[in-house]
Amino acid sequence: METLKETYTVDVSGVKIGGSNPVRIQSMTDTDSSNIKETVKQILLLYKAGSELIRLTIDNEDSAKNFSEIKKIVRDKGCDAPLIGDFHYNGHILLKKFPDCAKKLDKYRINPGNVGKKGAKTKNFYQILDIAKEFEKPIRIGVNSGSVDGDVIERLKENGIKDEMIIQEAMILSCLDSLNLALDYGIKKEKIILSCKTQSPKELIYIYRKLRQQCLQPLHLGLTEAGGGIKGSVWSVVPLAILLNEGIGETIRISITPFPGGDRRDEVYIAKELLESLNLRYFSPKIISCPGCGRTSSDLYRKLAKEIDDFIKENEHIWIKDYVGVEKMRVAVMGCIVNGPGESKNADIGISLPGKGENPQSLIFEKGKQVAVLKGSLKELAIEMKKRIKSFVEREYPFKGEKDGKRPKRKN
Ligand code: SF4
Repeated sequence: METLKETYTVDVSGVKIGGSNPVRIQSMTDTDSSNIKETVKQILLLYKAGSELIRLTIDNEDSAKNFSEIKKIVRDKGCDAPLIGDFHYNGHILLKKFPDCAKKLDKYRINPGNVGKKGAKTKNFYQILDIAKEFEKPIRIGVNSGSVDGDVIERLKENGIKDEMIIQEAMILSCLDSLNLALDYGIKKEKIILSCKTQSPKELIYIYRKLRQQCLQPLHLGLTEAGGGIKGSVWSVVPLAILLNEGIGETIRISITPFPGGDRRDEVYIAKELLESLNLRYFSPKIISCPGCGRTSSDLYRKLAKEIDDFIKENEHIWIKDYVGVEKMRVAVMGCIVNGPGESKNADIGISLPGKGENPQSLIFEKGKQVAVLKGSLKELAIEMKKRIKSFVEREYPFKGEKDGKRPKRKN
């Protein structure tokens, strides 16, 4: 595969996007941004879930007016994620009328398709750029398939572009046109991130590959209008995984619909799993367990996998705080001898349970070597595995607070 040149690095209030920096996770609130209490609450939830940048709608005077207070409260509560203003139609007016909001936002998202009509378009765009220049703010030029610039579509039709390619090509052209306008207007290349989101995974792959060939701006990836549930997750992850695996994409957002009763944080959790699945980032230890099949003698492996998964989740925040590199730990729980010993050897620590008709014993592996053979009930196996995992963590990962070779005692 062709090695891509590094993109420029855009510094969003200390969170660096692009260049050799890790792929960053973004999310967006869905509260009314004029409601300080609800918006603060959601920003903090997304932040605690692991969102490194958080975007919120600034669509009316109250939301612009209340932004400073929102930022102050979330900062007081320990959230240091950059906060991004999402603007459509009236961004030029709100940013000008509320300079405190313009100053306190960490980045502006501008949609070239919604910045204004005909003659006013460039003027409004420049008005936002003037403010971005004044406060030295980075911007994202964010094109969306649902609001592509009509003038660009007309231009492409006149040039004989086939109907089925019009939207994709119009998005790319609109994005690059706006990029060039911004650069010519004096915005530094290290201040601009691009995105071109569509609801079709195949189109998304095509568009981003093209964009990456034509510029070195960091790219914000995301499938828009992905839907919810399994469909939304799979459709979002598939094109992003393909692109990220090719080295395309410097920041991501999973734009899924939280169905009633759903959790807004799912978009952050999915983004984290996606990056971990590609070994691009490591956030927490992980369990590797087989799906089970006709060879498993009972649901012992399922129950044990769940117990171990819960145990890791209960302890990971303490381990990650205390032990260097523990977020890369992999723990296998496998159902039978077919793949059990192999996967357990590949993991840092693993257990291979007996399948149907096999010798009723469980093999334990650590760092590729068999270290024990266990027999017993689910409860006994779970207790032993948890003990071994805890001791593995304490033994194999350097303690962060170690001084003169001694580990300080934990207070609780
Ligand atoms: S490891 Fe064994 S039990 Fe698990 S899926 Fe494979 S064959 Fe089935």
